[in-house]
Amino acid sequence: MLNIRTYAFGIKEVWEIDESKHKPGAVLHTIGWPLDQKTYGGSFLYHMKDRQVSIGLVVALNYHNPYLNPYEEFQKFKHHPAIRPLLEGGTVIQYGARTLNEGGIQSIQYPVFPGGAIIGCSAGFLNVPKIKGTHTAMKSGMLAAEAAFGSLREGTSLKSYWETLGSSWIWDELHRARNYRPAFEYGVIPGLAICALERYILKGRSPFTLKHGKPDHEATNAARLHSPIEYPKPDGVFSFDVPTSLHRSNTNHDHDQPAHLRL
Ligand SMILES: Cc1cc2nc3c(=O)[nH]c(=O)nc-3n(C[C@H](O)[C@H](O)[C@H](O)COP(=O)(O)OP(=O)(O)OC[C@H]3O[C@@H](n4cnc5c(N)ncnc54)[C@H](O)[C@@H]3O)c2cc1C
Repeated sequence: MLNIRTYAFGIKEVWEIDESKHKPGAVLHTIGWPLDQKTYGGSFLYHMKDRQVSIGLVVALNYHNPYLNPYEEFQKFKHHPAIRPLLEGGTVIQYGARTLNEGGIQSIQYPVFPGGAIIGCSAGFLNVPKIKGTHTAMKSGMLAAEAAFGSLREGTSLKSYWETLGSSWIWDELHRARNYRPAFEYGVIPGLAICALERYILKGRSPFTLKHGKPDHEATNAARLHSPIEYPKPDGVFSFDVPTSLHRSNTNHDHDQPAHLRL
């Protein structure tokens, strides 16, 4: 049965850091702090080339405390004693934020419609535990293009995209990754235990498929059940206010552009 879709918010900065601290290829993924034990999310830090590191925080949007602010959590994260020294003396060169579609294989809907097909993250092809989806976006684009070509040239149906998806490595990879995200419905510690079981023992061959919890908007509690979170003021060195980050994002919208989201 089709599961609900679930989402996260990812925030990322690219820093240029001191040569002596730069280790090209090094990867760090963390879970937990600054997020609490009931909130799914974690950070990533990738050392790229040219003294650049990509650092970010992903926060699942089914958090309970309505006072939680993912942007401020990320600013706090950069002050951690294990992260701050790495960034010390560095400069931010880019900022970006984007929603992640975290439902995985349980939430994928039929992606073909008359005259078109949905590919990539819009279709839900993100590998959630790895926070990677560029490879599945490209592969699904190729499969859709082949189906479109067949449809134009041989008059075959675009539905063949759905069939080839099912037999491609995308499906296999997403199937193996399917239980990591919903495991955290039971809290961070039980979630980690289930993930360890999946990763090291079952290796994606578990006989069960976990379901996602409530839709994100239903998971948010009433404000009266929580206390406001006091976030520290940005110091302008490691942490920054929203307008500064917005400027670094290079996004440009007309000030009177109609909102495309309707609640
Ligand atoms: C913080 C973060 C870190 C990540 N790290 C990694 C990583 O290290 N490796 C990895 O493989 N993946 C990573 N991902 C996931 C990766 O970004 C996605 O899987 C990938 O971008 C999906 O590609 P896509 O083409 O499907 O969608 P997108 O890259 O989102 O492209 C969709 C494009 O469509 C545009 N668009 C939307 N609506 C409209 C409209 N109405 N009209 C015109 N244009 C529109 C958008 O502006 C966007 O440019 C990360 C994601 C986040 C948020």
